[in-house]
Amino acid sequence: MTESKNFIEDIIDSDLASGKVETVYTRFPPEPNGYLHVGHAKSLCINFGLAKKYNGKCNLRFDDTNPAKESEEYVESIKRDIEWLGFKWDKLLFASDYFDVMFDCAVLLIKKGLAYVSDETAEEIRQRRGTLTEPGVESPFRNRTVEENLQLFYDMRDGKFADGTKVLRAKIDMASPNLNMRDPVIYRVLHATHHNAGDKWCIYPMYDFAHPIEDAHEGITHSICTLEFEDHRPLYDWVVVNCEFPQPQPQQIEFARLNITNTIMSKRFLKRLVDNGQVLGWDDPRMPTLSGLRRRGYPAAALRDFCERIGVSKANSEVEEAYLQACVREGLNRTANRVMAVFDPLKIVLTNYEGSEMLSVEDNPNAETVTFRDVPFGKTLYIDRSDFALVPPPKYHRLKPDGYVRLKGAYIIRCDNVVLDDDGNVVELHCSVVSNSKSGQDTSGVKVKGVVQWVDAETCVDATVRKLQSLLNDVVDGVTDFEQRFNAESMQVVSAKVERSLLSAKVEDKFQFMRVGYYVLDKDTNGTNLVFNEIVGLKDSFNSKKA
Ligand code: ATP
Ligand code: MG
Repeated sequence: MTESKNFIEDIIDSDLASGKVETVYTRFPPEPNGYLHVGHAKSLCINFGLAKKYNGKCNLRFDDTNPAKESEEYVESIKRDIEWLGFKWDKLLFASDYFDVMFDCAVLLIKKGLAYVSDETAEEIRQRRGTLTEPGVESPFRNRTVEENLQLFYDMRDGKFADGTKVLRAKIDMASPNLNMRDPVIYRVLHATHHNAGDKWCIYPMYDFAHPIEDAHEGITHSICTLEFEDHRPLYDWVVVNCEFPQPQPQQIEFARLNITNTIMSKRFLKRLVDNGQVLGWDDPRMPTLSGLRRRGYPAAALRDFCERIGVSKANSEVEEAYLQACVREGLNRTANRVMAVFDPLKIVLTNYEGSEMLSVEDNPNAETVTFRDVPFGKTLYIDRSDFALVPPPKYHRLKPDGYVRLKGAYIIRCDNVVLDDDGNVVELHCSVVSNSKSGQDTSGVKVKGVVQWVDAETCVDATVRKLQSLLNDVVDGVTDFEQRFNAESMQVVSAKVERSLLSAKVEDKFQFMRVGYYVLDKDTNGTNLVFNEIVGLKDSFNSKKA
């Protein structure tokens, strides 16, 4: 089999072959202004994946140049989520640790006549910037002397100016066809306390200036980002070259961001849901954040598998939510123990059975090592109401009057009598156990097609179960606005009777509720008050032909 490589790997291969790069060095640079989401998982898998594949390194660097929106809570959550996803960073860094380096770079540019202090307001700068078809107008402050610029820049640093009254601009080309090159602002005055740097600074570098310096300073060889930064690459290169960083200089490479149907991929909007109380928090099991997906019971390995399968490309596209769910289902099918739960209980009384016994039931037929658990069985049981039909349709294989069904891992039973209330509703069933029909040692000779799950009425436990759907409804009539698409019914809380073994489950343990779906034990569980989140259903709704 020939290994297929993506376009980033092709670039790296050629850089290694030409000797331009000796060791691959990447970084993951989140801004700590929210929790990571599934889109970030793709970037994490690419950056850490390349480092691993090429025996290189990957740093975790917090891009914290915007003090207003950043916080320690986000820093901690990001570290936790990356570790959960299974990645280890080389160095843990903060862009704010380089504020001195960035300041020195700005001074160097000023001395080289490549940056100037401007008194223009943001609005004036915008107005003079020109358009895609018209060149910009030069700033009236563009030709300040080096000495004057240096003094003003030091004064900016020393807090002599109010927010928004002075900026430092790179002196590049107001007629460039690329608007990013029309004397971009590289430093601004902002009197704000920084979560890491405290009150040391009242000027902060802009992203387009800070990012290449961070990369170059760390010795990053391949700086991988999403497509919207393609137009910023000339500025990235300009900063690296003019700030005189040594070879090999970092190279920016853009890939298409991950989009998933009905999935919010914007920290800003996710934050709004949290702030408005529309969800339980950043880790609400419906949230596409890594913390949310983790609480939802998505295994980290399934997320990595998903990112691997969708691949890396330069073309924007949207992946179906069902595809991610299919990866999760596939993973859980191998790893999740099978247990029994009944959502809509119908009582069964076994008329010819007395006492109780402990059955040994296999945990997972797909597991590498076979394990069993004890499941109590007794005279009174519950099956799901949907597994009984008073008036069965043709070829009905579950329980019906005078019909037979196998109770999973237990016995074959026969429905002898149906107890109805005055309105004709089924209240309970009186059944008999077929002799010699015990699972694994069945010599009864009775053939049954239907197998149903059940729980023992004496020992089963009541659980709270959250049935979950996407936070967003499908796009209808071209309405794409998240607020209008918000699915207010995305969490439905129901109760279920589950087998007793689940009392020893731990938070984040994942199970297949037989014939129903996959469920995970939630942290809201309190003692014997079990709370489960639905992970995915059993059936694959994904049409692989569309992938
Ligand atoms: P958001 O718009 O949600 O705030 P962001 O791009 O501003 O996301 P950052 O914290 O700046 O978030 O992102 C860290 C890294 O993750 C960046 O390299 C960014 O390109 C990448 N990234 C963010 N969203 C996606 C996505 N949907 N698909 C792939 N990579 C992404
Ligand atoms: Mg960002």
